[in-house]
Amino acid sequence: GQNDIDVARYEKMEYARCGRSGLKLPRISLGGWHNFTEFEKTKELVCGAFDLGINHIDMANNYGPPPGRAEEVLGEVLKKDLKGYRDELLISSKAGWGMWPGPYGDFGSKKYLIASCEQSLKRLGVDYVDIFYSHRPDMETPLDETMGALEQLVKQGKALYAGISSYDAARTRLAAESLRGGRVPLTIHQPLYHMMDRWIEDGLLDAADDIGFGVIVFCPLAQGLLTNKYLNGVPKDSRAADPDGFLQESAVTEEMVGKLQQLNSIAEECGMSLAQMSLKWVLRDKRVTSALIGASRLSQIEENVKVLEMDDLSEDVLNRIDKVLGY
Ligand code: NDP
Repeated sequence: GQNDIDVARYEKMEYARCGRSGLKLPRISLGGWHNFTEFEKTKELVCGAFDLGINHIDMANNYGPPPGRAEEVLGEVLKKDLKGYRDELLISSKAGWGMWPGPYGDFGSKKYLIASCEQSLKRLGVDYVDIFYSHRPDMETPLDETMGALEQLVKQGKALYAGISSYDAARTRLAAESLRGGRVPLTIHQPLYHMMDRWIEDGLLDAADDIGFGVIVFCPLAQGLLTNKYLNGVPKDSRAADPDGFLQESAVTEEMVGKLQQLNSIAEECGMSLAQMSLKWVLRDKRVTSALIGASRLSQIEENVKVLEMDDLSEDVLNRIDKVLGY
């Protein structure tokens, strides 16, 4: 019955402390970048993920298409299917990329962040989001203004925790200092990270340790490249086959496919899928709090959460991965 599911979901998942905050995150989180456009599909993904213990759904104002659609659809699922569960769920949103026309719908002004958070709350049908992020750095807006907007949202209770995304290590340290001045901690950073892009190892993870924020990494599967999807070219039902998708078909070069095939053989030897090995890889560093995956079907999420039951990658396997990728 429903009560069995309610308890069981938490036994399957691991929850890790987000830096040195009071917040814990599931080691695998689910994002709605371009997979939450249709109600039934979104319901299947979100409720299915929740039953596996994935209680953190990562959103942004502009997820869709069209921008805003994903939050609306998730809002409908929250209302119809997850009523009564708000306190068991983490719902995040962000603003920073282009959302509406004119000078106030992009980048990092207070005008944009405050208005956008307000809009997200309405679309999601919630009183607050758990985490609100500045979605990208804005070199023209004073950092104190952008952080001041996050601080205001937290102090008004419209967001519980403050986050930033894609800030480099130096600007992250400044952002944390700015927030601390307002007595709001920087709780979380959301950077890109996967075995083919390791920029966070050059300073950002050290900043996480020093300052005490958590790290949730986006695109741990390189948008699907680091799975068994593209081992034989580009299948029709993939993100790369969608001309509007962010993963361009041109990224799937012969050289890339060659590397993916080698990685896939290593994964097979470990008794894992390439997706599972790639998730294990980002989670091998305990400073990475959560791997933020996308999924176009529930079976992918089911496959991906199995990594939590699997052994860590050995030194030898890590070295072989480095060799394939030229690290
Ligand atoms: P991933 O790297 O996890 O890629 C997800 C895609 O990989 C899926 O859509 C699917 O592709 C494929 N996939 C997943 N699991 C499997 C599997 N087991 N077997 C085969 N294929 C699989 O991440 P995303 O690019 O989707 O990004 C994840 C989230 O990160 C976003 O939803 C968003 O919340 C966040 N994000 C944040 C950004 C920021 O600036 N802060 C930027 C980008 C993302 P297919 O759809 O082709 O089936």
